[in-house]
Amino acid sequence: MMKSLTVARVHDIDVRLHPTIALVFLWVVIDWRRLGAGQGAAAVIFTLVLVLLVFGCVLIHELGHAFMARQLGVRVHDVSLSAVGGVARIEQLPGDSRAEMLIALAGPAANLAVATALTPLVLLAGVVSGFASLEDYALTVFNPSLVGLFTTLLYANVLIILFNMLPAFPMDGGRVFRAALSPVVGRDAATRIAVIVGEVFATALLVFSLVVIQSIILALLALFIMVVAYAEDRAVRVESAMRRLRVGQFALWDMGGIAPGQPLANALRGGPRDIAVTQDGRVVGMLWRNSLLAELGKTGAGRMVADVMERSPRTVDIDMPIYEVQRLMIEEELAAVPVTEDGTYRGVFTRDRFLHVYRQVTPDPWRMVREVVDQRRLERMRV
Ligand SMILES: [Zn+2]
Repeated sequence: MMKSLTVARVHDIDVRLHPTIALVFLWVVIDWRRLGAGQGAAAVIFTLVLVLLVFGCVLIHELGHAFMARQLGVRVHDVSLSAVGGVARIEQLPGDSRAEMLIALAGPAANLAVATALTPLVLLAGVVSGFASLEDYALTVFNPSLVGLFTTLLYANVLIILFNMLPAFPMDGGRVFRAALSPVVGRDAATRIAVIVGEVFATALLVFSLVVIQSIILALLALFIMVVAYAEDRAVRVESAMRRLRVGQFALWDMGGIAPGQPLANALRGGPRDIAVTQDGRVVGMLWRNSLLAELGKTGAGRMVADVMERSPRTVDIDMPIYEVQRLMIEEELAAVPVTEDGTYRGVFTRDRFLHVYRQVTPDPWRMVREVVDQRRLERMRV
């Protein structure tokens, strides 16, 4: 996949462009005959400027989300634009529905501000051009003139607002809808309801676009909404399961760890891995697989665990939710973390264990099939 390039920095937020954006401009130039029918090169230049400005409005929309998120203390990674639209990559929301609603509303609100600022310009340009009715303004949309440019931009911002406020995932309206329902029925149920509304809406849109107006683009959009709504539902289910499960249930005892006074070579028994170093039941260090292997390759087996271990490593409490442990491991780039109860070693939690938990909580349509097949196989073996 092609990577997005960072092209600008707005108040410490990186703005990234995906190379597919170039295709949109290329398409305008290639399709210039049709676009500029009877109006020549001016129409092509007008369209290029227009496309550029519309992307600008999408960027303002995403920056609206990003700035609101930062205002509320939520971390923002970056904002990126591609041929199919924009995305503000914001740290997962901590299940705070008020913040979620404000962040979702901030995007369309930014476009509302742009539309409000454009309105006097449109009216002024219309008065100068001698417009007498609303129809005169409507007819000027896509017209290669200054008043046409202002009117089309106003029109584009209104469309962005309306489209994003549809009460379906992945649109902002879907998030607002869920955030409004969450305090009443809980986040899981709210997501499920918002997803169902989104799926019903997308199905109606699909039928409408295929049967009534025969638009493939709109049909693809409907399919896109369906897929994203399903993915959101799945992600929220996994997340809430991860918040429910405690790390203690999944920690590996791993022979109680290894003592700091042991020869390094003993750590290899049972295969090279990240091992907690314990003394009198307390965690005193972490012996990382990589440093163990590097050390053994270098100096032979003469050294002790205490010489190579990392002293006073990060530990987690037995009751910490898996969700938080995983975030911590990603943030601090840890491959494993010892689990303790009132300071006493209870086991080690590793990335592999996380994958195991993840597989268990991910809804898997094939699992049922596999279980039936396994059951059959077992029965055959018994006979
Ligand atoms: Zn948005």
